[in-house]
Amino acid sequence: MKKIVFFCIPAHGHTNPTLGVVRELISRGHQVWYYSYNAMREKIESTGAIFVSCDDYDMGQKLSPKSAVRVGKDLAFSIRVLTDTTLALDDTVCAHMEQLKPDCIVADSMAIWGKAVALKLGIPFVSSTTTFAFNRYSAKNMKQSAGELFRMILSLPKISKQIKRLQNKGYPIKSFLDILQNDNDTHTVVYTSPQFQPYSHTFSDKYAFVGPSIRPAGDRIEKKKDKLIYISMGTVNNDMMPLYRKCLSALADTEYQVIMSVGDLVCVDAFGPLPENISIFPHVDQISVLQQADVFLSHCGMNSVTESLYFGVPLVMLPQTAEQCAVAARVYELGAGIKLDKSDASSILNAIQTILSDDAYRQNAAEISAGFKTCSGARGAADKIMQVCEHTI
Ligand code: UDP
Repeated sequence: MKKIVFFCIPAHGHTNPTLGVVRELISRGHQVWYYSYNAMREKIESTGAIFVSCDDYDMGQKLSPKSAVRVGKDLAFSIRVLTDTTLALDDTVCAHMEQLKPDCIVADSMAIWGKAVALKLGIPFVSSTTTFAFNRYSAKNMKQSAGELFRMILSLPKISKQIKRLQNKGYPIKSFLDILQNDNDTHTVVYTSPQFQPYSHTFSDKYAFVGPSIRPAGDRIEKKKDKLIYISMGTVNNDMMPLYRKCLSALADTEYQVIMSVGDLVCVDAFGPLPENISIFPHVDQISVLQQADVFLSHCGMNSVTESLYFGVPLVMLPQTAEQCAVAARVYELGAGIKLDKSDASSILNAIQTILSDDAYRQNAAEISAGFKTCSGARGAADKIMQVCEHTI
């Protein structure tokens, strides 16, 4: 029996793909401890792992699901929060690791305190990457927005101060790149396929592209018309009433069935009486909807895009962040979607009609889906972690 410790930030998108891996390890008779935050406690405990809460140790900046999503999207913010969290957890985690003597630490690429403690104590380490893996080639797809770059430059003096604080606590870190980047020497599990990962051939054999783990669908939804259009801007930055109104005016009384998921911040009643072909909800079972959908208008969160392509559904894309732009760029490159330059009603309708009338989009999405389905999944990720535990790679 091996002892494995997971670390993650409190974001559903970063946590969900790891749950199947934890289940797989436990079903093989291994023991798993999982450091995360109370917002994720229930889903983590449901795997059989021992949940360890970080909420009491984060020096007042309280890493919440909302702030966790900013981590990875706003570099300056990320580095401050990640350093503070590493230092806040230092005493407790190091004492626990020294007593537990785990065979391996698995940490989300943003939960740098996991990688930092593995480096400090010389514990075998696996990085868990829920977005695209990042190196100088794939970075071309992930250009920072000017605003993010500006904030990073402003925070540079603070960053070097933070590195000193980490070094003083015994962390062998020369720069943040040491822990933030996926280098070719670090064992890394990536939850996408080698086909979908940009420049996957430039990553070393320490990388396992294990593909997505798609949660089971709930009840089957009723398809009322020949074509079903699904619209969602995700669960975080979804307070987008003007956009939803444009979708409504583009698609009202068309031959399409439309399902819109608008989140909790928009009041569904504010739309007034809806046309017969359109339904609007705060939240839907996205997997059930995608099983029936023909086009998905999406903000291009990694999870939404992966789920869409898994079911062979091409996309109309309205990315909002640098990471979402990178995902959208890859979908466009593979011919499985159209990126909207303008989000007025006629551009939305045109893009949807183009996708429905040109079968190439659906075929390209189906090809990516086939690639996902041949990946090794949670079993492959567990195999990789075991090889690291047993020092066989
Ligand atoms: N989701 C859902 N129902 C909804 C909207 C979203 O189940 O009505 C799920 C969706 O299946 C996906 C996640 O929420 O797994 C959204 O993650 P993504 O990375 O796409 O975007 P984020 O919400 O992090 O911006």
